[in-house]
Amino acid sequence: MSLWSFPLFKKGHMTETVVRNAVCLACGCVCDDIDVHTAANRVARAERACELGAAWFAAHDSHVAQPTALVDGAPAPLEDALRVAAQHLRAAHFPLVFGLGQASTEAQRAAVALAETIGGAIEGHTALTHGPTRIAAQLVGEVGASLGEVRNRADVLLFWGTNPAESHPRHFERYSADAVGKFVPNGRAGRTVLAVDVRETPTTAASDHAFLIRPNSDFEALTVLRALLRGAPMRASAVAETGLSVERLRELLEHLKRARYAAVFLGTGLTGTRGKHMNAAAVFQLVADLNAVTKCVALPMRDHGNEMGTDQVLSWTGGHPLALDLSKGTPRSFPGEFSAVDLLRRGDVDAALIVGDAPWAPLPRPAVERLKRIPTVVIDSRVGPLSRAAKVHLTAAVAGISSGGTAYRMDRVPLALRPALVSPHPSAETVLERLRALAVG
Ligand code: SF4
Repeated sequence: MSLWSFPLFKKGHMTETVVRNAVCLACGCVCDDIDVHTAANRVARAERACELGAAWFAAHDSHVAQPTALVDGAPAPLEDALRVAAQHLRAAHFPLVFGLGQASTEAQRAAVALAETIGGAIEGHTALTHGPTRIAAQLVGEVGASLGEVRNRADVLLFWGTNPAESHPRHFERYSADAVGKFVPNGRAGRTVLAVDVRETPTTAASDHAFLIRPNSDFEALTVLRALLRGAPMRASAVAETGLSVERLRELLEHLKRARYAAVFLGTGLTGTRGKHMNAAAVFQLVADLNAVTKCVALPMRDHGNEMGTDQVLSWTGGHPLALDLSKGTPRSFPGEFSAVDLLRRGDVDAALIVGDAPWAPLPRPAVERLKRIPTVVIDSRVGPLSRAAKVHLTAAVAGISSGGTAYRMDRVPLALRPALVSPHPSAETVLERLRALAVG
């Protein structure tokens, strides 16, 4: 029994336990106010969790039924599986460590140490979502803020290429549109919500003003906004490509200029389309320019539970959030050169360690095919398709459900995890540390 959990009542022979203020890792909001009720070592109810969060808690039990480990698809004792996994990783000339978006920060740190020991490359889920945003921040800098600051101060909110009403269901309630803040005491009535997207979404429907632009014209629209902010004359033909008129773009800009405090949330609808990191850089530059007129901040809408943690850990340890090569004794980062997808697609890596929930799902097919051809070690809470094809699968407890540690919210605020279940499996951190010890020896 931990400090934050206690038995609630007895139902027949079954004691229900509640863990207060548990942390949900189903999306980048990382809500830390969930009361998790458990019975018979299963999550019975996750109070205050949204539909996505409730499904995440419900999807995980303590995974008692999962095999401890598999070697070549057959159940194996943990010690044997660890030894085989370490042999493959140590024998590789250039192994890759990838995934980690659902792992604890401590496990991410252990993964970096292992990647250094085996002389490999390492990259997190960010590469598949907000990699362009991180590159843009390195190019032009970013004006950021905590979500608490946004909640308390922002009277104008702009969602660009993101649909939090569906992807981050409690974002409005906890941090943005609907939240009651210290300097925004009227909540939704005190905020102007703007949305830019290429199609109508629940977020555009919930906004006060929606601006539908043509697909792949984000960079052009942002550049025109910057030009208008500087008072540049603008011809209708120069903005035609965006799908918006000069007047509509000017209207969007005026909302931002009139704000006491504006917050711009950028999503993968912006960073994943033509222009990629230049789109994100254009947002950061517009936000920086707006600070000559009013206070304005930009926050990327991070998708996975602890995707931000990987960026933080790679940055502390290797100086870069992405595409880190540790094979030469000093860290080097070249997105494209050492990005996980490119390394796999080109066949540059000869072994891989994948950590986390279904990280192969968004990987392009050639990268997945390469994973199937090289010795691959998978650390996951369940045996999935990649685990079955892998040389070694090692079952680990689930961060936030059955193992503790820390996770970073999308605004870089670290939060302590409060696991509600007890797992027979070790944490990913423990597995990674043991692999490292074997790889050294
Ligand atoms: S908004 Fe995200 S973190 Fe919060 S409860 Fe829903 S899924 Fe979990």
